[in-house]
Amino acid sequence: MENNLEKKGYKVTIYDRYDRAGGLLIYGIPGFKLEKHVVQRRIKLLEESGIKFVLNFEVGKDSSLTELREKHDAILIATGVYKAREVNLPGNDLSNIFPAMEFLTASNKKGLGDKVELFDNGTLNAEGKDVVVIGGGDTAMDCLRTSVRQNAKSVKCLYRRDRENMPGSAREVGNAEEEGVEFIWLTSPKEFKGTNKIESVVVNKMKLGEPDDSGRRKPVIEENSDFEIKADLVIKALGFDPEDLPKLFNEEKLQVSRWGTIKADFDTMETSIEGVFAAGDIVRGASLVVWGIKDGRDAATSIDNYLQSKQKLRVA
Ligand SMILES: Cc1cc2nc3c(=O)[nH]c(=O)nc-3n(C[C@H](O)[C@H](O)[C@H](O)COP(=O)(O)OP(=O)(O)OC[C@H]3O[C@@H](n4cnc5c(N)ncnc54)[C@H](O)[C@@H]3O)c2cc1C
Repeated sequence: MENNLEKKGYKVTIYDRYDRAGGLLIYGIPGFKLEKHVVQRRIKLLEESGIKFVLNFEVGKDSSLTELREKHDAILIATGVYKAREVNLPGNDLSNIFPAMEFLTASNKKGLGDKVELFDNGTLNAEGKDVVVIGGGDTAMDCLRTSVRQNAKSVKCLYRRDRENMPGSAREVGNAEEEGVEFIWLTSPKEFKGTNKIESVVVNKMKLGEPDDSGRRKPVIEENSDFEIKADLVIKALGFDPEDLPKLFNEEKLQVSRWGTIKADFDTMETSIEGVFAAGDIVRGASLVVWGIKDGRDAATSIDNYLQSKQKLRVA
């Protein structure tokens, strides 16, 4: 994100497994919140300044971290968090039940002018459908509001706590309500029903019980309270966890926290491996763009210091 290293005279290469650069700014955040031409203009400026983008390149598959370390003097890991949290319910394998990122990526690709078969054939397109989104965070809000813009017949949000205890921003909830989204508070899915395709979601009513370890009141099922909601598209937006990076990168020395985020020094962004730095969501867990930018800048300063001290050692 920050080209400060390039400006200082270093040669910078970015490897990304997507076919476009920009991460969640290009494929996660919907175009009505962040216009894609702004992101694309920034990427073009970075390219023009000399930064090399190697796309469709997955570290862990197309190259190991060790191989990259042999090729480059310093490495920054900024891979984000992409493992979608799951609800494993009866009927989970019915068609037309999708993780949030699949739905949002298809919509963003379409907005960028790509041919998206699953969107074009109506599968990943909310138009004319009764849409149910499960989850209460900002990703859920983006799925709800994208469904509205795709002209869904109805758009409902299931959230297991109440309005006061939602993780998503109150402003986004208000925006979604103004646009016609129906929030069904204190509900949790119990079963997906249908023959081949999803036809309805059976939900339990919940009530708020005693506070849990985090201090938030824990939702508990109200006995014999279940009811059915018609649905022909279900989007699961329950949050994201980090992938197992030490395994994926075949690099056991890369230390991670108990949540799977990379352990990095928050001042220097250096990881447990010398010359390897980390930034953004993969260090903080799902976070915000501004924190990714800050981490990127801090890491750039540290990488510069690290490379300069290495250079001095060589000269001495
Ligand atoms: C739906 C949604 C909406 C959001 N809305 C907002 C918002 O309104 N405001 C806000 O501030 N934040 C928002 N966020 C959060 C924000 O997008 C992230 O905090 C930010 O993008 C994190 O930046 P990052 O560089 O750490 O990771 P990412 O943006 O996720 O980028 C990671 C990049 O690494 C690549 N990658 C991953 N693994 C590999 C690998 N093995 N090899 C090669 N490349 C790899 C990915 O393809 C991706 O391009 C939203 C997030 C989501 C999911």
